[in-house]
Amino acid sequence: MRLALFFLFALTATAETTVLRAQRMIDVVSGRLISPATIVVVDSYISAINPATLPAGAPVVDLGNVTLLPGFIDMHVHLLLESATRYRIDVISETPAEAVLRSTVNARKTLLAGFTTVRELGQLHPTKDLLAVAMAKASDAGWIDSPRIVAAGHAISITGGHIDPEMSSPVSAGLFQLGPEQGIADGVDEAVKAVRWQIKRGAQVIKISATAGVTSVEPTMGAQQMTKDEMKAVVDEAARHGVKVAAHAHGTEGIIAAVQAGVASIEHGSFLNDEAIRLMKERGTYLVPTSGLGETIDLSNAPAIVKQKADIALPAARVSLRKAALAGVKIALGTDAPLIPFGQNAKEFYAMVDRGLSPLDSLRAGTINAADLLGVNDRGQLTSGKLADIVAVPGNPLEDIRTTENVVFVMKGGKIYRRP
Ligand SMILES: [Zn+2]
Repeated sequence: MRLALFFLFALTATAETTVLRAQRMIDVVSGRLISPATIVVVDSYISAINPATLPAGAPVVDLGNVTLLPGFIDMHVHLLLESATRYRIDVISETPAEAVLRSTVNARKTLLAGFTTVRELGQLHPTKDLLAVAMAKASDAGWIDSPRIVAAGHAISITGGHIDPEMSSPVSAGLFQLGPEQGIADGVDEAVKAVRWQIKRGAQVIKISATAGVTSVEPTMGAQQMTKDEMKAVVDEAARHGVKVAAHAHGTEGIIAAVQAGVASIEHGSFLNDEAIRLMKERGTYLVPTSGLGETIDLSNAPAIVKQKADIALPAARVSLRKAALAGVKIALGTDAPLIPFGQNAKEFYAMVDRGLSPLDSLRAGTINAADLLGVNDRGQLTSGKLADIVAVPGNPLEDIRTTENVVFVMKGGKIYRRP
């Protein structure tokens, strides 16, 4: 009986097909605007673009006067954080389970804004558990409405460095017992152990803090913190597992050391000089400029030292992005959300145009370039065979990039999460 039922199911199970129609789509690879656009989705994948004949009987979703784009990709988020300063309270007042449940709201806002993949670059919650890895699994299993999550677990920092959770406040020192499992590592051996722990627990990318930072209380923001040997050890160990490394880096010296150590991306890159730009081009290192947060970051509750550092770093970062874009450094979109609030991630598209990228290059930074930096070729463009991660915006984003901030339709893996 059971066998008969199985065969009956196998014979009647058919692929799920959806046809999307819109006035326009953008091929981000060629830069062409294609009009009209019909995309056939079978199960989780795009099966055809503007085919001569449509599959009979398939449901048609006619979106009208919109532009279809590949699902957006944000290469720098912190899903567990709510603001630049609130986590100082969250980390001592919440259990890890509460933190994850709260953060599912941030994941949902991000997805509904059209971001179908995010890279989660450090949880800053000092438990040994990798909370964003748990969220990634929940997303993959369909338990939560969320972008696909590529999670770093704990970012790796020196004792007293930018990502040491105890550096978020002048009074928090001594609250936590932190070691390589929570990303605090000194010397090559501990740095290697920190990488191995994150990967053992499911991290798919490694984040390091190469230099000091803005939202932590060290007196400088640009000073190199990890040694070149420590960074090289991290990159080499991650590479043995096929994992890439992203480096938080503001100061020139630390940027250059991180690029020479072989990191895949420089996050922020506030103080880029000609040598740093030349080296990044030579090595193919991505810049993830996180530029738009300059307009949105809320430092009203931040310590005075953090405000002072922000006043210097944010204008410098704008200039550095302009120089890097002109020089042809590879650029991928990152928001550092919540520093751009969750759900407003697309503000970064406009910020990059404002600093000198063309609208097409800005779109590429948040789609095909981001996929390249992730090391995947299954997303980031609207082509048959790619994942059906598809969003729609009103108007034409090549003429007005801010239309990306009004996403009206979101499909991830063939499933519709938002419709007009
Ligand atoms: Zn960050």
